Amino acid sequence: MALPNIQDYYVPGTRQEAVELLGKFGENAMLVAGGTFVHGLEVRGVLGEIEALIDIGQLGLAGIRSEDGKLVVGATTNFGEIQAHADIASAPHYAAIIDALTYPPAQIINVGTIGGCIAASAPLYDLPCALSALDASLRINGGNGAREVALGEFFTGLFENVLASNELITEVVLPAAPANTASAFLKLETNANDLAIVNLAVRLTVDSAGNCADTRVYVGGGIGESYARAVSAEAVLNGAPAEAASFDAASEAVVNDIEPVDDHRASAAYRAHIVKVYTRRCLATALERLG
Ligand SMILES: Cc1cc2nc3c(=O)[nH]c(=O)nc-3n(C[C@H](O)[C@H](O)[C@H](O)COP(=O)(O)OP(=O)(O)OC[C@H]3O[C@@H](n4cnc5c(N)ncnc54)[C@H](O)[C@@H]3O)c2cc1C
Repeated sequence: MALPNIQDYYVPGTRQEAVELLGKFGENAMLVAGGTFVHGLEVRGVLGEIEALIDIGQLGLAGIRSEDGKLVVGATTNFGEIQAHADIASAPHYAAIIDALTYPPAQIINVGTIGGCIAASAPLYDLPCALSALDASLRINGGNGAREVALGEFFTGLFENVLASNELITEVVLPAAPANTASAFLKLETNANDLAIVNLAVRLTVDSAGNCADTRVYVGGGIGESYARAVSAEAVLNGAPAEAASFDAASEAVVNDIEPVDDHRASAAYRAHIVKVYTRRCLATALERLG
């Protein structure tokens, strides 16, 4: 791996120390959590100026706790710990997370972290798609203090996000599960190590009248520079009966919200077709999960 300007590998013991190092090196520093994406960034030629690697594994940011009905997941919590958490594994509301974590290979499950997966800001990754549909938010610490940002407002482009060079994600907040709510996620890939050609997550609430309410549909993969919130599909669903006819109508509307890429992995037309199919399937799965 070619990191020609690396001078040192730091392992700070506190958040303050990590923030100070980020402040010192600015754009020339890179955080390392699981480290599984470092090679991916290097081959894309974006690490040439990096002088300092800052390992955040000793900051005490791993683990999952409850807070006022929310679940707070530390940024260095790995995928396996998330899969094994009893509340996440059992609640229909969080099912999209468990679905998304069925795709990465075991090595990534054991090492990849929720914070690294989000900060990488690649819409080809699965977990952020599922977390966006659940209205997750991020707690961020930096030289100017702490702030919280909705995940839906975090990504600004391919490999780009709202983090300043002296900031890091410390926690991911999953809001309390609304009543009668379930979620689902699907990904199209060519093999088990493949990044998404298309991925899609939905969250569905069914109200007391049997209608869809507060629906979320997020699409990722090769459909644009970042994840897309399918507001046209959500508008069709909200207030409509939670049944197959509404899901069909939403799957027709969803293509208004994406700009599928046409490349060697799949044509734009095929991606759009799969997005329609997955919208319908994910909604049907979420409804089924509500019993
Ligand atoms: C073989 C292989 C198969 C894969 N398969 C899948 C798959 O099926 N589905 C899928 O979704 N993904 C897949 N991935 C991608 C994987 O999800 C990411 O590599 C992983 O999530 C990155 O997390 P990490 O902790 O290793 O991040 P790192 O590599 O440590 O960091 C990634 C980026 O995030 C930054 N960063 C890390 N933590 C923070 C933080 N707390 N705050 C701010 N910035 C931070 C780093 O500086 C770096 O820029 C695969 C990767 C590989 C190598």
